[in-house]
Amino acid sequence: MRGEILSVGTELLLGQILNTNARELAVRLAEAGVFVYYQVTVGDNRQRLLAAYREALDRSDVVVVTGGLGPTYDDLTKETLAEALGVPMVLEERAMAGLRAWFASRGLTMTAIQEKQALCPVGAELLSNPVGSAPGVLWHKDGKLVALLPGPPHEMRTIFEASVFPRIRSMSGEHLQSRVLHLAGIGEASVQERLADLMAGENPTIAPYAKLAEVELRLTACAPSDAEATDMLTPLALEVRSRLGWHVYGEGDERLEDAVGEELLHQGLNIATVESVTGGLVASRLIGHPGASRYVAGGLVAYSLEQKRSRLGLSADTVGDGVSADLALELARGATRQFNADVGIGTCGFAGPTGRQVGLVYVAVAGRRGDRVRELKLGATREEIRQRAAQWALTLLWQQMREEA
Ligand code: ATP
Ligand code: MG
Repeated sequence: MRGEILSVGTELLLGQILNTNARELAVRLAEAGVFVYYQVTVGDNRQRLLAAYREALDRSDVVVVTGGLGPTYDDLTKETLAEALGVPMVLEERAMAGLRAWFASRGLTMTAIQEKQALCPVGAELLSNPVGSAPGVLWHKDGKLVALLPGPPHEMRTIFEASVFPRIRSMSGEHLQSRVLHLAGIGEASVQERLADLMAGENPTIAPYAKLAEVELRLTACAPSDAEATDMLTPLALEVRSRLGWHVYGEGDERLEDAVGEELLHQGLNIATVESVTGGLVASRLIGHPGASRYVAGGLVAYSLEQKRSRLGLSADTVGDGVSADLALELARGATRQFNADVGIGTCGFAGPTGRQVGLVYVAVAGRRGDRVRELKLGATREEIRQRAAQWALTLLWQQMREEA
């Protein structure tokens, strides 16, 4: 099945908002077994929207449209679809009652202009919207499906998952299943090298995606049933895990801080940080894991050279110009002392954009499990250097815990 995503909204064309709906829908359509060949964006303009509909209906089996479903004059998505299909619009009594109830439940009165939202092109159905007022629209005929969804991402997602995804999935007959493995401490090239033979396969497939501070591996299988797709992915995921070892820290929504947190709990260790270049990012990520109170003792940002000396009782020699392997280790050791923790993390580096050795970063782990430090060259913007440094600090700890587990 060929698919197309049509995004409607002048603010998208002007770059005032990012088209996150198209990105999300592209992922989900692939998972429903639809090959998305086109993504089109048009402004709130009847003529151009009509042309886009005609083209989409002509070349695609599944067309998902977002935006312009609201009640105002610039919301043209529904009536223009009716025009493209050559059908009139009728008022749906049930939707009308739903709208009245929605407004009443919020203590609002419905105006005539809002009644427009209960109109539906003849031959289509309205999809109820539990999180907003504008219903979606589904038209399905002769193997073609068109879905109209509201622009606000939360509403788009809710209606798509409840009413559109299952329909598309049952149309395709093919079951596409994906698993995403998250990797730490390894680059795309090394992944490619270690998995070359597996990556040459056509079904299931393995595709690496380099993110800001990590590589993601998407394993995808296409089969006549969900169970068969699962059976294809299970051994593949095991093989990948055995080849990449500790570098695979998690799967799906799991973040590195989640994996690290669970491992700390499992090993009965608590942790503290003293951060310079990352300015609290490491502590913030650790605390982002639900249940962090069970193993995070605390964190300190020691940024100026003077604070590094006085807070941690370090000599001027050790602190030096604020960036060295020894200093990172001392910050990590200081963290264990300051917070009476089993394990400490320390970070320091040059985040730029000006000055010498921009991107030179040291991250260190110290404590009951021994000390280790890592020198990194993270050339990029200030923001990227700091994010990557935080990722590496967690990675170093993860590696240590896994290697010694
Ligand atoms: P409303 O009833 O809120 O007017 P609508 O269906 O008419 O909804 P739009 O008016 O096109 O939708 O967009 C409403 C808001 O939804 C936008 O201001 C924007 O914040 C968000 N939005 C719209 N389209 C997208 C998109 N493609 N990606 C991300 N956000 C979007
Ligand atoms: Mg609108």
